[in-house]
Amino acid sequence: MGQHTKAIHAGLDPAKHNGAVSVPIYQTSTFAFPSAQEGAARFDHRSPGPIYTRLGNPTVQALEEAVAQLEAGRGAVATSTGMAAVSTVFLALLRKGDHVVATQPIYGASRRLLVDNLARFGVTTSFVRATDVAAMRKEVRSDTRLIFVETPANPTLDLVDLEAAAALARSHGISLVVDNTFAGPLLQQPLRIGADIVVHSMTKSLNGHSDVVAGIVVTADPTLLDSIRQTAIRFGTTADPHQAWLVLRGLRTLGMRIERAQQNAIDLAKWLQRQPSIALVHYPGLTSHPQYELGRRQMSGPGSMISFEMRGGTEAARALLNNVKLITLAVSLGGVESLIESPASMSHANVSEAECLAEGVTPGLVRFSVGCEDVDDLRADLAQALMAAEAATGERNLAGATF
Ligand code: PLP
Repeated sequence: MGQHTKAIHAGLDPAKHNGAVSVPIYQTSTFAFPSAQEGAARFDHRSPGPIYTRLGNPTVQALEEAVAQLEAGRGAVATSTGMAAVSTVFLALLRKGDHVVATQPIYGASRRLLVDNLARFGVTTSFVRATDVAAMRKEVRSDTRLIFVETPANPTLDLVDLEAAAALARSHGISLVVDNTFAGPLLQQPLRIGADIVVHSMTKSLNGHSDVVAGIVVTADPTLLDSIRQTAIRFGTTADPHQAWLVLRGLRTLGMRIERAQQNAIDLAKWLQRQPSIALVHYPGLTSHPQYELGRRQMSGPGSMISFEMRGGTEAARALLNNVKLITLAVSLGGVESLIESPASMSHANVSEAECLAEGVTPGLVRFSVGCEDVDDLRADLAQALMAAEAATGERNLAGATF
């Protein structure tokens, strides 16, 4: 089956749910056993029936099945948030004394989790530039247990060469974990390229409607899957049926949303590149992206996330954000509505200024999650906001020149 068909049908078996075409919400914490013997059999894994929602729930399982199919995995564990997915993987795989190699930039909370929380449990992390596989190779040591990468990276859209990272992990017998939130399974399937584990913030494009937080871990390795599931159950990071249902509902239109938002992003990235008040546009679909060819190799499309540098720095970025009218000033991404924010002062505010600068997260960087609106409306909104930003920062008013 194709990815669009899977997004619509995977995990859906009406025969299992009284013919229901939308998987019902099993809004229950616990499940009655028909007999003491059957209850014991379920606990013993001799019978597959449900026991208790933290351990498994039919609505959550339908979502896990759907995303596992989309990511070419053997199974998945849905979690309460994207950070729950990331932390569950770390808790399942790492022990005291282990070392992690992580690329930078990554989402601010993932970085802080490694540097602050896991460091307290004796786990150390070395960070390497996302684009630098040679540096990654140098950092892998005998105590390295996993490589954690985000590609495209939040918020600079740097790409990690997944084939090279997977080969490196394989040669050391360690795991490659990929945060695939920015691309999503329609545009990039890291397990097919050799990654061991994929994580997602399903808060983003998998759900696509900015109305739920959720995450998921996917793998093709049954031993890893079991360990991740047991960790999620014990640390209590599993998803609840209502959030799972919301994501399943959003997932059914993934293909249409991604195609439309991506087309908008392609058009807008080219237009933004021509605006005099913008110094640089980061978007893997532009031939000017330094890793354009890598993007073409490992992704089937450049996606709908763009970031760009305002020539006027912080002041210009703030003025732009304060003047958008249709586009919403908010963090998060991947929804049908366009969102815009300043990573240095918002989504990555918990990363120090020095770390931000080392990662290319400059004060004038703006992150733009392109939605499914009419592209002309988005362009017009950006044009008037850029003009206002230029007026506010005293620059030459040229924003409308190519509009
Ligand atoms: N990974 C990436 C790439 C993200 O952008 C985010 C959130 O913005 C997360 C993980 C965390 O997801 P959540 O907010 O659902 O916990």
